[in-house]
Amino acid sequence: MTLSQSAARAPRGTDLSCQGWEQEGLLRMMMNCLDPEVAENPHDLIVYGGTGKAARSWEAFEAIAASLRELGPAETLLIQSGKPVGVLATAPQSPRVVMSTAMLVPKWATWNIFRELEDLGLTCFGQSTAASWSYIGAQGILQSTAEVFSEVARRYFGGTLRGRLVVTAGLGGMGAAQPLAVTLNGGVALVVEVDEGRIRRRLASNYCDMMVRDLGQALSLAGEALTSGQSRSIALLGNAADILPALLERDVVPDVVTDQTSAHDMLFGYIPNGMPYAEALELRRTDPEAYKAAALDSICRHVRAMLEMLDRGAVVFEYGNGIRDQALKAGVERAFAFPGYVNGYLQPLYCQGQGAIRWIALSGDPGDIYAIDEALSRRFAADANLVRWLEFVQSRVAFQGLPARACWLTYEQRQELGVLVNEMVRKGTLSAPVAITRDLSHTGAEASPYRETEGMPDGSDTVADWPVLNALLNAACGASMVCVNHGPGVGIGNSIHAGYSVIADGSELAGAKLRSVLAADCAFSVVRFADAGSRPAVRKAIELGLKVPLLPRG
Ligand code: NAD
Repeated sequence: MTLSQSAARAPRGTDLSCQGWEQEGLLRMMMNCLDPEVAENPHDLIVYGGTGKAARSWEAFEAIAASLRELGPAETLLIQSGKPVGVLATAPQSPRVVMSTAMLVPKWATWNIFRELEDLGLTCFGQSTAASWSYIGAQGILQSTAEVFSEVARRYFGGTLRGRLVVTAGLGGMGAAQPLAVTLNGGVALVVEVDEGRIRRRLASNYCDMMVRDLGQALSLAGEALTSGQSRSIALLGNAADILPALLERDVVPDVVTDQTSAHDMLFGYIPNGMPYAEALELRRTDPEAYKAAALDSICRHVRAMLEMLDRGAVVFEYGNGIRDQALKAGVERAFAFPGYVNGYLQPLYCQGQGAIRWIALSGDPGDIYAIDEALSRRFAADANLVRWLEFVQSRVAFQGLPARACWLTYEQRQELGVLVNEMVRKGTLSAPVAITRDLSHTGAEASPYRETEGMPDGSDTVADWPVLNALLNAACGASMVCVNHGPGVGIGNSIHAGYSVIADGSELAGAKLRSVLAADCAFSVVRFADAGSRPAVRKAIELGLKVPLLPRG
């Protein structure tokens, strides 16, 4: 075992092992994704989301690290599906790293072909923020998840989930945010998870309140909290394909139903029911085809139960894991009777250029994050929601790996954030540079017809020029890292996303990069929706004075 395999933890402090902070920042981000506090299965380089990896192999990881250490300030490292393939002369204002992950020519873009190529060592699955090194643990998705449940509360339950039962499954890297997001909205979460180790991890980090092994006990604990109006999150050890039908047998119809099992991946994601967990893992190893068939059968059972709950009055939605598509392919004709969460709840925010952004203290010093929290709270004191959110995460959510924050900010706030943080680094208010990045869920930056681009106003759900344009644009703006990934969230064949990171090192060059990337990337989301004919986006584009040649003026 090499050093990296036993200790993939980003260095802290201000000593550089690279030629500059731009390279050092990217190196620390990659290592941070594989920190055991951060990654779900660091030994196999798996960060989260089924098999989302930070590098193709440990050898590739070492080679990326070595390349970043040698990379000059006017060079760019090319990464092809988690493997470094070349260092080319570019310019200081160019990206230091560009990457493309899991891309396949459309006709061949299936899981089977992908796996064959993966077995040949030619590609790897990068999810959204694993290959792009932007993953910061469950905190990264917490506010988005809370935002989704709060929109559900606003729309259906008078603004709160108090006295409401939310049933979901999956306590993995992203799914872990669900119990806390539900309790934040005052509700009671019953989260089914088949792997006890994952539940214990969420209990230890305070994302979930308690674990039980028995459905009856779970329901009585939930009932108690519902009656008293208390918020509570209960992890139930079990398989969703067993538990959801069992709820119906007991005539329990939750108020809200969703799911965050890794249903996008039939082999390494979804766990089939009808057999103990350990047996399922053994079947996966000995007979992958039988495993996939069993997983698909279980998904059908699971989705049929969700549909029955929908018919009996529950608010049901898919949480971006492709479960409806899997069920439809396996013959559940009504699988798309319930919506996806982005289409249902987040698109209106994207139309305004709002979105999630995250920043990572490369020093490893939590004080840097608290100083940025304070600066943002002062600067945006009028935004009570933002100030409350920053107070909440500071008091309640533990850092995983390098201290980091993720927030939903408006178009205007995101522009200011970059300048503000870079100035704080320049003035020495922060002890070291900060990486500014986002997850790959941004709608302008992806084509994902079962998720971010589901139900586009002009029917352009499957048009995939947008993520490519977004990546080209962010590279033109000089982001420190630019990436395009195939398959995030909903799996191979179903999505293409683009992302970026900029290292705010306090320099003038970093300031220029941040101004241009953040302005262009936020505007891109508005342009995407304005082009698709969304009236709020058209209004926002006009308000911002964006140059959109065929923008309707009405
Ligand atoms: P993960 O692979 O880390 O965790 C999935 C969890 O589901 C595991 O803990 C697994 O044990 C559990 N599980 C699998 N089958 C089960 C079953 N039948 N019953 C009960 N538990 C079961 O994945 P993750 O990072 O948490 O992501 C979950 C899904 O959400 C993925 O499909 C991912 O692509 C999608 N996703 C969501 C977001 C988001 O915005 N929340 C973002 C990216 C991806």
